[in-house]
Amino acid sequence: MAKRGNSIIKGIEISEVINMLNKAYADEWLAYYQYFIEAKVIKGIMKDAAIAELEQHATDELRHANMLADRILQLGGTPLLNPKEWFTHTNCGYEEPKDFDVVAILEDSIKGEQCAISTYANIAESVKDKDIVTYDIVSQILADEVEHEEDLQALSDDITDFITSMKKHI
Ligand code: FE
Ligand code: FE
Ligand code: MG
Repeated sequence: MAKRGNSIIKGIEISEVINMLNKAYADEWLAYYQYFIEAKVIKGIMKDAAIAELEQHATDELRHANMLADRILQLGGTPLLNPKEWFTHTNCGYEEPKDFDVVAILEDSIKGEQCAISTYANIAESVKDKDIVTYDIVSQILADEVEHEEDLQALSDDITDFITSMKKHI
């Protein structure tokens, strides 16, 4: 644990920061697996474009889990050690893919990103002007989640437009 590094945290309990980061850590692992498995089972029109996006997002979520684990350790905490705890600590839960169609898969993922955006905005708000380093890390992650939502929504809109124009021509 970094003594001087942690002494600059003011106005918030370090245990509270660790707790928030561990909950987000659970979210990231569940998001990683959700993207991983969605990229495998997805079916339908323009699925290759969707697979590329889902795989890229899986990589990003795993990188986020890494960033959070490192920060939790710096703060003197322990990242969740048992995957069972992902379900008891998660903010955003896990959306099991039931309908494998591209549009349904993208819809599930957009919901997840919207929850992630709210979660990181809340953490950023809680640590603002109190824990500068955590604020910087969660801000970086938040920017990625905003990009994720936008990428998925743009892709979903393209697919929906394509289907609409196909229908007009048959
Ligand atoms: Fe993430
Ligand atoms: Fe994301
Ligand atoms: Mg993307």
